[in-house]
Amino acid sequence: VNTGSKPDISREKSAELYEKAKNYFPGGVNSPVRAFKSVYGTPLFIQKGDGCFVWDADGNQFIDFCGSWGPLILGHNNAKVREKVTEVMQNGMSFGAPTALENELAELIIKNNKFVEKIRFTSSGTEAVMSAIRLARGYTGRDKIIKFEGCYHGHSDSLLVKAGSGLVTFGETSSAGVPKSFAQETIVIPLNDTKALEGAFEQFKDQVAAVIIEGIPANNGLLMQDVEYVQFLQKICNDNKALLIFDEVITGFRLGFEGAAGHYGIKPDIVTYGKIIGGGLPVGMYGASAEIMGHISPDGGVYQAGTLSGNPVAMAAGIAQLTELLRSGFYKELNTKTTEFADSIQRFATARNYKFKVFQIGSIFWLAFTEKEKIQCAEDIDPASMEKFKVMHRELLNRGIYLGPSGYEVGFVSASHTKIELEKAKRAIFDSLDVVF
Ligand code: PLP
Repeated sequence: VNTGSKPDISREKSAELYEKAKNYFPGGVNSPVRAFKSVYGTPLFIQKGDGCFVWDADGNQFIDFCGSWGPLILGHNNAKVREKVTEVMQNGMSFGAPTALENELAELIIKNNKFVEKIRFTSSGTEAVMSAIRLARGYTGRDKIIKFEGCYHGHSDSLLVKAGSGLVTFGETSSAGVPKSFAQETIVIPLNDTKALEGAFEQFKDQVAAVIIEGIPANNGLLMQDVEYVQFLQKICNDNKALLIFDEVITGFRLGFEGAAGHYGIKPDIVTYGKIIGGGLPVGMYGASAEIMGHISPDGGVYQAGTLSGNPVAMAAGIAQLTELLRSGFYKELNTKTTEFADSIQRFATARNYKFKVFQIGSIFWLAFTEKEKIQCAEDIDPASMEKFKVMHRELLNRGIYLGPSGYEVGFVSASHTKIELEKAKRAIFDSLDVVF
């Protein structure tokens, strides 16, 4: 039974706060996607989170599938994380000097993850990736990097670059303020296209420092790559003495403790992490073999630093969160419930002949208005389908379900989503799909 469109939730207080925020911040926000430009209505101002729920300033309660864009794999305000952070905070917030907590988090990561021998903590994913690129350039003595259309790696200059026309292109800046000359060092090619990759290495022989790819591209829909393609990527990097960088800011500790590298069984030369390793506080990290990391200052000539790098409070949150992830069966349970959630939505849509697909891996899912069985590169997404997402987003909010405010964004299931909330969310998605179609 089509239950029809639901009346809009009240957003009075959020709207009031938004009006105020516009006086202080461009677009009223501190990160553009939060402005709700791609969906209906004004942004919701969140007041509180607990487990899989968030509450906005108007008191509306939502089951949250955004999870602060990925870090909250245990859910909001997890007791273990909160207690550890509270305990560590009693001793002060920041020293700009080494602490035992840095060792503790590093040990948790390095001992349980075969892809990094030495690491550096930063305060964001952007910094981690920016530093990884500098390291690759310093290590190889080359300047050019290859990135893929549809992959997001934070907002540093080299990476705010989009493809021009043609298979292999010098990048064009995708943001005002990025000098053309910087973008010229970034080569942008389509995902899942071996010919483009070969073409790029032929055209820029002995000039490529690194190829960077998201572990599983998840910033422009969920663009799952064939393992053979990623193996080819590794081989062509090896053959050309270019480094392979896996940006695992989303996939790290999300797909499993060893992220996408563990999922593919491929060892990248440099890995970047963020989000989950900070347990909801600002932490990023890059790591590699001891030999490659030996090029970082003060041992080597590649400079990178940070006032708040390895901040003790943030380290404490990371330690508490990662410790929980190492419990036996953690990922199996989380991934299985996400698969069941995704499969049952897909079964509903298929039975109704809706042009709708749920793409899912581990606890990441993407709701796509498409008939295509596979979407592996950015060009396969029809921008017109985002109009349908807009309608669904509004219907879902009105039914108490919070998704990131863009159809290109993925959703995350956390350990705190129980069968009850997943069942409720499924019903809301079914009803919303009936409204959209
Ligand atoms: N890399 C990837 C794959 C990301 O998804 C993001 C952020 O979403 C970043 C890098 C940048 O991380 P941050 O937003 O912490 O700077």
